[in-house]
Amino acid sequence: MSWIENYVRPRIQQLVRRTPTQSDLWRQCPACGQMIFHQDLDRAQMVCPNCSHHMRIGAKARFDLLFDADGHDVLTMPQTPADPLKFRDQKRYTDRLKDAVNKNGPGDALKAAAGRIDGMPAVVAVLDFAFMGGSMGAAVGAGFVASVRAAIERKAGFVAITASGGARMQEGILSLMQMPRTVAALGMLKDAGLPYIVVLTDPTTGGVSASFAMLGDIAIAEPGAGIGFAGQRVIKETIGQTLPEGFQRAEYLYDHGMIDMVVTRAEMKATLGRVLSLLMQPTRAVANLPALVADTAKADAAAPAQAGVALKPGGKASRARATEPKQPETKQAEATKAEPRT
Ligand SMILES: [Zn+2]
Repeated sequence: MSWIENYVRPRIQQLVRRTPTQSDLWRQCPACGQMIFHQDLDRAQMVCPNCSHHMRIGAKARFDLLFDADGHDVLTMPQTPADPLKFRDQKRYTDRLKDAVNKNGPGDALKAAAGRIDGMPAVVAVLDFAFMGGSMGAAVGAGFVASVRAAIERKAGFVAITASGGARMQEGILSLMQMPRTVAALGMLKDAGLPYIVVLTDPTTGGVSASFAMLGDIAIAEPGAGIGFAGQRVIKETIGQTLPEGFQRAEYLYDHGMIDMVVTRAEMKATLGRVLSLLMQPTRAVANLPALVADTAKADAAAPAQAGVALKPGGKASRARATEPKQPETKQAEATKAEPRT
């Protein structure tokens, strides 16, 4: 059987593969309809030069875009039972999986790699929408946990890039169980004091948006990305109201405080590098944390409620601020948020 799958099938596929035609050389932008030459589109990182629409890209393209030129290691994802429920709708689930593997290569919807982003150690896990809509089954959950463990082992920041229709219905309750599983994995990352950055791309919906996609220490989204739990039609019918302009788009979520940044694909690597260095440097700078805490504790004796501020790196400035009569609300919140990282 494996001889047929490994040797005969690829040869047949090679024989019947089409030679590129004129229509393969041009791609149409799904947003504005502009025809774009494939090389121009590749150069623009699959962003439409006419309307800046960010087209969907796969895991390999993401790794190439984000990691430094000195390379990255693609992580081996754990094996999971392929079809635990023996599920069948119009097609067998195992057949759907085989089709997806034939189109997208081995593995499941989640791929991960470890390397450096602008010099900062990082593990990047990418949900590939082309693989069964980036849906989350047991394989994605197990892959996510393995990626988080890899980040902890390497003392690296963890970046998740999401594009998903949600939980994988063919795995029923097992797919829903991946929601708490991924959340628990992020708990391990937090305990290790490592940052988790999530990059929401089009579309991020369902069980993925209801679990790890919304838990980033920093949440970034690509412009125009559709982000939500249920679809717009379902919401509209449920609440019986017309939805506002731009509802569930990245910019709308940013305006309403749900995400921290909307960043173009061209700027993504530099932004991730900067965020990682900001979140990971305190760990190195405050290596002598116990001494610093003892030192600042005296200064903060009069204002114990401000102690959190003094734990921030840059001792002098922090102490000066800690003795100020009243901290603005936002600074306090920032300080408390930053505290576990130090
Ligand atoms: Zn366009």
